[in-house]
Amino acid sequence: MTSASDASNTCDGHCPRCDQNLNADIVASESCRESWNQPGLGSLSEIDTYRILRCRGCKTLYVQRMYWFSESQDPPHVTDWPSPPAPDWVGQLDDHTLQNLLHEVYGARNAGHRVLAAIGARAALDRAMVLNGAEGASFREKFKALREKGIISETEKRMLGKLTDAGSAAAHRGWSPKREELTTLIDGMKSFLHRTLVLKSAVNAISHPSRPKKSKGISDSSRPSQ
Ligand SMILES: [Zn+2]
Repeated sequence: MTSASDASNTCDGHCPRCDQNLNADIVASESCRESWNQPGLGSLSEIDTYRILRCRGCKTLYVQRMYWFSESQDPPHVTDWPSPPAPDWVGQLDDHTLQNLLHEVYGARNAGHRVLAAIGARAALDRAMVLNGAEGASFREKFKALREKGIISETEKRMLGKLTDAGSAAAHRGWSPKREELTTLIDGMKSFLHRTLVLKSAVNAISHPSRPKKSKGISDSSRPSQ
């Protein structure tokens, strides 16, 4: 099979090095199509396409599989390999529950389990808020607590609200995010965790010589003007 995007030799893919959905060159593409008659349903078919892609940003080569089934109402299921691992800083987190949760979120995403990954990202956000001292039974109460502590801005409060709403839709209504939506959800979670749990400690650990004290007897007004 040669799709329209194959004909133009480009497509979207999730680059394992950039960890983003980016345009990629299609280096090679091969498809396998099967059709059969199902009693009561008629003719069914499926197409499995494998592509070797080259990221147009960093030039990394990776593989993409796209599976299409004639009876599915969803867009073709796309999986990219190898998958980006969890960020290195996950190992620096003091909280092992959060560490394990994040490894499961990335594992679910990389296996194509978008609903589970979205639910996991919401749980990781919840855990991180508690670690930041947010009391309360609901997300609304936790956002309020974080805002009062000065940990998040009003803009970030609204953004976190949208992320947790998306996670709730996956948890309670079976909403399955598109690939790009899940990337946004995980990026938002990652950004909050890194800023509040990793970067804050790293910045506090910076050690530098203190500013030298001014010599007594020399005031700013006594310095020669320039
Ligand atoms: Zn790349």
